[in-house]
Amino acid sequence: MNKIRTLFFRMQNLIAKNLFMTVRIKTRQKEVFLTFDDGPEEGIAPFILSELGRHGFLATFFCRGDNAARYPDLLQQLVAAGHSIGNHTFCHIHAYDTSAREYVEDIERAEALLHTGIARPPFGSIRFSQLARLRRHYRLVYWSLDSGDSRREINDPNLLVEKLCRSTRPGDIVLFHCCKQHEANTRAILPRYLDWLSSHGFRSCPIPDGRDNLPD
Ligand SMILES: [Zn+2]
Repeated sequence: MNKIRTLFFRMQNLIAKNLFMTVRIKTRQKEVFLTFDDGPEEGIAPFILSELGRHGFLATFFCRGDNAARYPDLLQQLVAAGHSIGNHTFCHIHAYDTSAREYVEDIERAEALLHTGIARPPFGSIRFSQLARLRRHYRLVYWSLDSGDSRREINDPNLLVEKLCRSTRPGDIVLFHCCKQHEANTRAILPRYLDWLSSHGFRSCPIPDGRDNLPD
């Protein structure tokens, strides 16, 4: 892909994010919206479930269709525990490499398993042509705070958690992952962050479904 094309898509992405995607949720309560991408996968999904359960927190899981097909029991456990499910495409495709038609087809393939009104494009990337079609059916969700669990290397998890805690504000949508690839990092960060949230009076809620709750 040439540089100008990429730049053009990035510009579309920036506008889409700021004007048409939910980046944070307006709230007067001391609440955040934890989100977990790419799952559900064995090992890490039950771990996250039990950590959230320990605090009575609810979250949103942006699932890949292929993982939902591979692990229907895990998907069912997430739903049964009261968490929200979001669409994260079937094959974790990148918007810049895919036509609008292919993109929508991949989302619809995942939708047959996920049944949701919220979606998060992989990498937070979206082009106008795809956005126009997805907005009819989904609340599109970005994030305001990245936990850092997808970093290749974390030298000091304590430092990372401290920074995450210092940055946390009511209404933040916090990005975590629910996949084997980042499992070690997620296990290192999540429990300490949840403890901090609880001890500072925060709770975590699922992102409201549908498009009537407009982003601020
Ligand atoms: Zn992803």
